Parts: sequence; C-alpha cells; structure tokens
Amino acid sequence: MTEYDVIIVGAGPGGIFSAYELTNLDPKLKVAVFEAGHPLEKRHCPIDGVKIKNCIHCKTCSIMSGFGGAGAFSDGKYNITNDFGGTLYEYIGKRTALELMNYVDSLNLRFGGEGTKLYTTTGSRFKKLCMENDLHLLDASVRHLGTDINYVVLENLYNYLKSRVDFFFDTHVTGVKVIPGDQENQFEITAGEETYRTGRCIMSVGRSGSKWMEQACREIGIETKSNRVDIGVRVELPAEVFSHLTDELYESKIVYRTKKYGDLVRTFCMNPKGAVVAENTNGIVTVNGHSYEDPAKQTGNTNFALLVAKHFSEPFKDSNGYGESIARLSNMLGGGVIVQRFGDLIGGRRSTQKRLEESFTVPTLGATPGDLSLVLPKRILDGIIEMIYALDKIAPGTANEDTLLYGVEVKFYNMEVQVDEHLETSFPGLYVIGDGSGITHSLSHASASGVHVARRIVDTFS
Ligand SMILES: Cc1cc2nc3c(=O)[nH]c(=O)nc-3n(C[C@H](O)[C@H](O)[C@H](O)COP(=O)(O)OP(=O)(O)OC[C@H]3O[C@@H](n4cnc5c(N)ncnc54)[C@H](O)[C@@H]3O)c2cc1C
Repeated sequence: MTEYDVIIVGAGPGGIFSAYELTNLDPKLKVAVFEAGHPLEKRHCPIDGVKIKNCIHCKTCSIMSGFGGAGAFSDGKYNITNDFGGTLYEYIGKRTALELMNYVDSLNLRFGGEGTKLYTTTGSRFKKLCMENDLHLLDASVRHLGTDINYVVLENLYNYLKSRVDFFFDTHVTGVKVIPGDQENQFEITAGEETYRTGRCIMSVGRSGSKWMEQACREIGIETKSNRVDIGVRVELPAEVFSHLTDELYESKIVYRTKKYGDLVRTFCMNPKGAVVAENTNGIVTVNGHSYEDPAKQTGNTNFALLVAKHFSEPFKDSNGYGESIARLSNMLGGGVIVQRFGDLIGGRRSTQKRLEESFTVPTLGATPGDLSLVLPKRILDGIIEMIYALDKIAPGTANEDTLLYGVEVKFYNMEVQVDEHLETSFPGLYVIGDGSGITHSLSHASASGVHVARRIVDTFS
C-alpha cells in the first residue's frame, strides 16, 4: 500500500492551492492529488453548437471536472470579499479570510495573471444610484483573469506542481476509511483497485462531488446540514445596456428585496461581452456564463444570473433535490436549456425559433426556445420579473422585449460539513475544504480555504 504524508481528493482551486502551499512550505512532504477528471489539456466539452448542440452526458464532465475543477473554463473572477462567495470568515475570521484571498491573488499574478485588471466598488457612484432605486450594491474587489488567462495560470500552476506532487487523473476516489490510531488517525483512500494510506487527508471535491461527499460523511459519521438552493435564470442583453457598470466595476453584485414576497433576488456571475454556456451537474443540465479577457474572443452581449435564494425549514431537508427537480423539468421540456425573450414571458407566450431569429439580441447559446413560466415556480418567476424592472431603472434597456432569459440557472449548495476553525472534521487529520464543504461557493474562497488548511497541516508536522 502506497503511503503519503498528505492526500488531496480533487484538483479544483481548493485542492490546487492546498498542494501549492504544502509543497511551498515543506518541499519534503510526500503529497498525492486524486482527480476524477482529466488533465487540463485533455478537458474538452463536446458541445460545439453545430454537430453536438446539447449535453451528451460524458462519463466525467469536462466543464466541471479535471485539473482546475469547475473553475477551469470559468471567467476567472476572483472576488476578494467576505460579502459573498462563501462564509469562510465565520470559521477563520474576516481578516484572515481576506489575507488569504489576497495571497491567492498574488499567486495568480505570479503564475501568469500579471497585467489583469482589479476592479473595486470602493467609492463607486453606483452605490448611491442603486440605493436610490431600492437596489443594494455589495462591496468587493474583483480580479478578472478571464477564461483565457485563467487557463494560462492553471497551466503554469500544473507545470510547477507536477514535479512536486503525484497527480492521479481519471481516478475517482470511491472510499475514505478512518483507521483510528493511538497517536493519530490514518486514512485509507480507495481508488479503483488500489488503496493508499495517509495521516492527513484533504477532501476538496467541489460541486460535482456533492453526492459523493454526502455519502462519505454518512459512512464516516461526519455531521452535515443543508437547507438552501438558489434558483433563477441567466439574463443576456446587448453589452451597452450594462457597460457603464461593467466598465467601472466589471462585476456588480446587486441585491433586491421583492415587494410581493420579501424574497431576496441578486445578480450573480456577470460576464461583460461574454457567452452563455450549458453546465452539467450530476446529469442535470443547467445554465452558466463566462467571458474572455482577449477582445478577439468577446461577444456583443453581457450575461448575468438573477437568482432567488430559497431557504427551507424543517421537516424539508432536500433543498438540492428541489432545485434538481426544477432543472429536470426544463431539461424535460427543452432537452436541455430553455431560452425565452422577456417580451414573450411578459406577454404569456412561449418563444419560438422565428421570434428568436427576429430578436435584436442574438443568443450566444443554442438553447431551445420555450416558456419558462412552465418551469419556474410563480414566486421565483415573479421575483425575477420584479428585479428586471428594478434593474431597468439603473440600466435602461434591461426590461427590453428582446432581453433573453435562459433557464434554469440553479446554484446548488453542498450540505455544510461540520468542521472547526482549521476546517478539520471531528476526525483529527481529516479536512474538508472548498465548495465540497458547503462553506465556500467561489474561486477565491475555495482557494483560500486550501491555503488555510495547508498551513495548518504543515504546523501539525512540526
Ligand atoms: C462555468 C462556471 C463558471 C464559474 N465562474 C466563476 C467565477 O468567475 N468566479 C468564481 O468565484 N466562481 C466561479 N465558478 C465557481 C467556481 O468554479 C467554484 O466555486 C470553484 O471551482 C470551487 O473550487 P473547489 O476546488 O472547491 O471545487 P471544484 O472546482 O468543483 O473542484 C473539485 C474537483 O474534485 C473532483 N472530484 C469530485 N469528486 C471526486 C472524487 N470522488 N474523486 C476524485 N476527484 C473528485 C472533481 O472532478 C473536480 O475537479 C464557476 C463555475 C462554473 C461551473
């Protein structure tokens, strides 16, 4: 049985930055990273919009899995803030969380991100404009790497790490077993026919590993809780409509409380001059978006999500199951993602191919024209419509008939795993980080959690 000082499950940003920091602080450590997906250069989504238009449910989804994790083809927006992107600060404190996010930012610059822009809401005139219109702009600094530079950074990080760490790609970890010891615990990691042993295990399985994580926690006996899912649509409109905001802030996180139900609706993942993409989570196709730093790859549209947060109380526990059922409904009706013109939604009719072709806003994703009111619960749809009219006051044109709405966008939250301030479970030596812990929901928070745990682990060896 091969033994390692540290085993990391998952090579997303959480796993990568923990591997980086471990080997940076103690180059003698024997570290292995197990990743269910492919190496970076072998990650290709077969959807080309021509021959393959919809998700064909690959064995491992190249958008969500492989070196770089779900973030590899993302827009590479590293939000440096405690206001959103996770609740890491509740465990490690606001100051430490920000310090770690800034440290990750410095590494991103060192590994290829130098010259990319850092945007900030500090002193922005849009704060006042939002407030005047019953909208709230959240505080953040955002490093926009862009999909292209994000890829370069990952490539450089891999080239740096590959001689320092043993990578096992296309290797799905099936089990983690705790072997209690007198001095310290040992962990047996099973992948295929092989078993590996370690005294320190970091589980960093992200969103695509949410079901696996749930089962692992049940088997090992780690407490979890879960009660939230965000459901909504991705909005796409001509880039000019939001250019005054995106030119200054790049990404603006704006929150609105609906008059009708008092629900919170927020903008999420804004991609100026970007493209809308389909995403496969556990076999369910939802929608997302990204954009490029390279002007040659940019589009004429901006896209962002409008999400309504749904918190459930006892006895209902399966918030992700609720979100999945709604996404399944859109997959059932549209064979994948559905797109509808805002004018059609308000007019109570489905969008058709003909009406889409006549639309002034040209879709960047080949989705099925349909009717989102047959998919989204009324309360959620009412909230989205209210917010579109509210946004129209600060970005006139948002409520245009040709604004495109893609559905559904679901933000699944992994159940929150019980960990302490070191992100260590009740089994000493077993750590859970990144989106798989339910504590982080973003590149910057997931990466920061990786660095935090790596530093702690190095301390435990000294
Ligand atoms: C299209 C898209 C765009 C996004 N854009 C942004 C953005 O601009 N800014 C932002 O902050 N966030 C963005 N996100 C979210 C961001 O990518 C995640 O928050 C981040 O990747 C979480 O990092 P992680 O390491 O925790 O998990 P992940 O990145 O999900 O990585 C987990 C890895 O673990 C592997 N894994 C899972 N189970 C196992 C197993 N049993 N055995 C072995 N390996 C396993 C998976 O294959 C995966 O590669 C985006 C996400 C998507 C999908």
